[in-house]
Amino acid sequence: MSRKPLMAANWKMYKTLGETREFFEAFLPKIKDIEDRDIVIAPPFTALALSCELVRGLDNIRIAAQNMFHEDEGAYTGEISPLMLKDIGVELVILGHSERRHIFGEGDELIGKKVQAALKHGLMPILCVGERLEEREQGLTQRVVETQLQGGLKQVSNGEVENLVIAYEPVWAIGTGKTATPELAQEVHQFIREWICKKFTSTIAENLRILYGGSVKLANVAGLMAQPDIDGALVGGASLKAGDFEKIVRIEG
Ligand code: PEP
Repeated sequence: MSRKPLMAANWKMYKTLGETREFFEAFLPKIKDIEDRDIVIAPPFTALALSCELVRGLDNIRIAAQNMFHEDEGAYTGEISPLMLKDIGVELVILGHSERRHIFGEGDELIGKKVQAALKHGLMPILCVGERLEEREQGLTQRVVETQLQGGLKQVSNGEVENLVIAYEPVWAIGTGKTATPELAQEVHQFIREWICKKFTSTIAENLRILYGGSVKLANVAGLMAQPDIDGALVGGASLKAGDFEKIVRIEG
């Protein structure tokens, strides 16, 4: 098994251009020597072009968008297309984040179209799945995650799924300070890998990176990264400060 860890920062609706520049000025020198893991930063749309410019030419860090629409262009006020993201140098896109699902009402069908469009244009989707607290309490975690995987990967072929990352983010752990225990997260990660194995192939499942997200911080990341099916983290709040995120990125599994 040789999955390269991927440590991703989701800045959500934080950071102006000045704050973005300040972050990269502090962060890039700190991570210069890191080669054994991929680092991804997902700034807000307004800071994407600047971020791409600041990391240009660096091998260990790439820029992700936090969302996109699935059409190439058209009368879709307020939306951003995969072509526009590619045009400025964005390489990945977070899709199906729970805040998109539950605040903005995005459903599995729409998310599936976005995943397909991202893959078609050579953007790597980070497809987020995860159950809400009441669903976990009712024993529905696997069913919810399975439905989200089915919807998100509906039209994805064997060749395409190799260019995708999945993030398991239990909704009750996002931004709440409540992290899933490493064992509990591992259970769902294992379920996801087994599901991928059944739908695609065992080699694809073995190579697929599955990130954990939900109140990841320095104090809990090592335990999570030590789990056999956790290949990285999607970090919100704790990714906003260069020094904190650098320490998280460096944690070995
Ligand atoms: C996220 O935004 O995907 C996330 C996991 O946020 P936080 O780390 O703040 O819980």
